[in-house]
Amino acid sequence: MARLIDEILGHASAWEQLERQRRDGHLPHALAFTGPSGIGKRRMAWALAQALLCEGENKPCGQCGSCRRVEQQQSESVLLIEPQGPQIKLEAAHQVLEFLSLRRLGAARVIIVNEAQLMNAQAANSLLKVVEEPPPNSYFIFIVPEITQLLPTLRSRSQVLRFYPLSSAELAQGEKVEAWMLKSARGSFERLAAFQDEETGELRQLAFDFLTSALSGERRGLERILGETKDREAALQSARFLQQILRDWTLLGTGEEIHSDFKSAMAGFPERLPRHKVELWRRAQQMESDLIGNVDRVLLFENFFYRSHSDLR
Ligand SMILES: [Zn+2]
Repeated sequence: MARLIDEILGHASAWEQLERQRRDGHLPHALAFTGPSGIGKRRMAWALAQALLCEGENKPCGQCGSCRRVEQQQSESVLLIEPQGPQIKLEAAHQVLEFLSLRRLGAARVIIVNEAQLMNAQAANSLLKVVEEPPPNSYFIFIVPEITQLLPTLRSRSQVLRFYPLSSAELAQGEKVEAWMLKSARGSFERLAAFQDEETGELRQLAFDFLTSALSGERRGLERILGETKDREAALQSARFLQQILRDWTLLGTGEEIHSDFKSAMAGFPERLPRHKVELWRRAQQMESDLIGNVDRVLLFENFFYRSHSDLR
């Protein structure tokens, strides 16, 4: 049993605004939560649903039957719409209309549309009327990265609430988290969780060792990275780390480095002209695009390796 809002990191002012509007009875019937992914917009939508549906005195109480059903995502008064495949299609809009036509059981009805930018025009159009004039106590929450990605007809009917990436302190929550993880997470707790995974830490080391070998022409680092990035995701992640490490190399000594724990090792790298460092970074970026385009992984790493110590000396 819990109040969902208590489990959300940061976004205190967004919650305050929503709470004030809800208490005063001025909560708009259509809201658009915007901001980068993995920072808590969806959780906030559920927390707001809990407050709207709570049967207790101090809403959300976190204790009543309704609060518990929302917490377990089993409330009949909340409808979650998410893309099935690459789009949110007309069927989803029909589901919304049907949901709104049912007899209302709780204090309100909440429709959360996650990744609302993927709603196709047909689906959005068939929702226009109910978004404009929803049945009493019905609320739409559209979740999108950027407000411009929401179809204009829905955008103009929604109050926009912007969510910002979390600060490093909010992300760390008083725990000791490695500095590179916080910097690489760019305000997203989902990304931070991915970095905290042990395998990801190994990929980062692998990318660093690969670069060290590529600069010196020593094959060992190449063989290791080829041996341990057989799946596409691992290869992609190591290409991303490679870019970050190369970026750090060009910024060495400025305090802007992401992987600051590699600083002293990087100081021992062979000398390269600044434009050569930038060129290496560009090649690592190209490698990531090529991996996404399914170019042969072995070929890409070998290319990067051989050209790093021959072309750019
Ligand atoms: Zn409650």
